[in-house]
Amino acid sequence: MRIILLGPPGAGKGTQAAGIVEKYNIPHISTGDIFRKNIKEGTELGNKAKEYMDQGLLVPDELTVGLVTDRISQDDCKNGFMLDGFPRNVTQARHLDEFLNEAKINLDKVINIEVDKEILVSRAVGRRICKSCGATYHVEFNPPKKEDACDVCQGELYQRADDNEETVSRRIQVYLDETKPLVDYYSKQGIIADINGQQSIDKVFSDIVVALGSDK
Ligand SMILES: [Zn+2]
Repeated sequence: MRIILLGPPGAGKGTQAAGIVEKYNIPHISTGDIFRKNIKEGTELGNKAKEYMDQGLLVPDELTVGLVTDRISQDDCKNGFMLDGFPRNVTQARHLDEFLNEAKINLDKVINIEVDKEILVSRAVGRRICKSCGATYHVEFNPPKKEDACDVCQGELYQRADDNEETVSRRIQVYLDETKPLVDYYSKQGIIADINGQQSIDKVFSDIVVALGSDK
């Protein structure tokens, strides 16, 4: 099973990602993890990526694709993988396709978790986090028993500075603008599965499993 997982910030992508890799027994590949590992191990690609990051520059698409294709060439990806947070744009998608064509492997599905922007904003704006243990709450959907106190440790709850409406709204719009061409790109290939992310976690997961279509 070879999957790409797409979903905006706040769509519950992390939870679904964990469920997918467990069910299908495939490695979870995120560009963040690959960057960290290659930089830590001082690989050639890692060192190059670090040069850009140290200068506060975006890592070029070609380099990012190089790191990802290097990762999916490894043995544990022989029977499949799930890409999370990659590709970010059509250029990366095209480079990935070139690599996959050469390696004679196909993507099975691109899972696209969709949630209305207004809902994403309200999910983020209502989020509260415990200063002591990091437990998360939501003022409306998952309120603490006692206002402003953590159920687990009684710690004080706070709101992240960037969880305000304006910043969240901008963050989501950037994601949507970036992802729309990507969704179109994979739609043309006929491998997009749009998943309604405005349902319970379990229902979203079962819809994903139905979209993936088999247990291989
Ligand atoms: Zn706590």
